[in-house]
Amino acid sequence: MSDPILLTPGPLTTSRSTKEAMLRDWGSWDSSFKAVTARILDRLTKLAEGTHAYACVPMQGSGTFAVEAMIGTLLPRDGKVLVPVNGAYCRRIVEICRYLGRTAVPLELLEDQRLAPDVLAERLAHDPTITHVALVQCETTSGIDNGIHELAKVITKAGRRLLLDAISAFGALPLDLRTVSADGVAISANKCIEGVPGAGFVLCKRDVLAAAMGTAHSLSLDLHAQWMHMEKTGQWRYTPPTHVIAAFDQALSLHEQEGGTEARGARYRQNCNILVTGMRARGFQTLLPDALQSPIIVTFLCPGDARFTFSKFYDLLKSRGFIIYPGKITAADTFRIGCIGQVHAEDMRRLLTVIDDCLRDMGVTNCAPALAA
Ligand SMILES: *Cc1c(COP(=O)(O)O)cnc(C)c1O
Repeated sequence: MSDPILLTPGPLTTSRSTKEAMLRDWGSWDSSFKAVTARILDRLTKLAEGTHAYACVPMQGSGTFAVEAMIGTLLPRDGKVLVPVNGAYCRRIVEICRYLGRTAVPLELLEDQRLAPDVLAERLAHDPTITHVALVQCETTSGIDNGIHELAKVITKAGRRLLLDAISAFGALPLDLRTVSADGVAISANKCIEGVPGAGFVLCKRDVLAAAMGTAHSLSLDLHAQWMHMEKTGQWRYTPPTHVIAAFDQALSLHEQEGGTEARGARYRQNCNILVTGMRARGFQTLLPDALQSPIIVTFLCPGDARFTFSKFYDLLKSRGFIIYPGKITAADTFRIGCIGQVHAEDMRRLLTVIDDCLRDMGVTNCAPALAA
């Protein structure tokens, strides 16, 4: 049987050639591996239009390691960071700060609510001790697009600094560092660039990174030290995930061949549109209005029909070749379906007919959520 299609927020369904790129062993000190690393860092910087002003620093581990390294290295120890919270990944930044002994001020929002630029402006005006704002570009908990371009303008105008978790957005949603002036941008290998998990990256403003010597609280998560080592030797400071990096290099080539961020975002948007239109035609409701919905992942409310259970739905879909994702929001009973990875319009259309089969097997006839039923 062929592999199931992953409709999740990562790890994702990847291309065969990306997987095949891992069929070779590399010496981490060898010049050909150094060249692969250098090429990746250069490509990521160019994708965000960050050439010259930014340095891209890799970090072993999952995306959270990159976020923690970014906070630990680029947020000064006496800094104070405002964190708008409308989901688990925003909340994780607050938790990272707590571990690191950095002052974080959460700005609580509802999970289906985006921070309004004027609310942010007012908050910054009222508290001049806030030095930084941490934003999540797409909050994967719900799938909300947090509209960071407008917020970034407010932050810059108020003379504060931005730390951005772009992990679930990078490569699909636009990010231009000439207009979004972030000190740091966290990226992961296994989201919209469609690599395999095991590495993250932080785009760092060069002057901020240069001034961050000795700021990090952790030996292995010190981006300044990783950067210095790489500048001197072309090597990672500690063992790199060599196969992951080789696969990521191939994934970046495929991203470029597809037409870059715009084309990839358009494919995901088409996946999302087919999914949302088809699910609504079957009576399902999305958590978010279309204006806030990112093309990354969609949260659906569970049907109120007592014959619907997520675990049964999940198992039936899995047996027919699709892996979906449980809900993560706290306010309602939900599940999520991702639109990212090597997934195309025909996969989404097939998913919808498979969902019909699963609902029939469960005897679910009404897909309206409990409250609206
Ligand atoms: C996936 C993701 C992360 C990182 O999660 P890991 O499980 O550590 O890979 C961070 N932020 C966002 C918004 C994400 O979607």
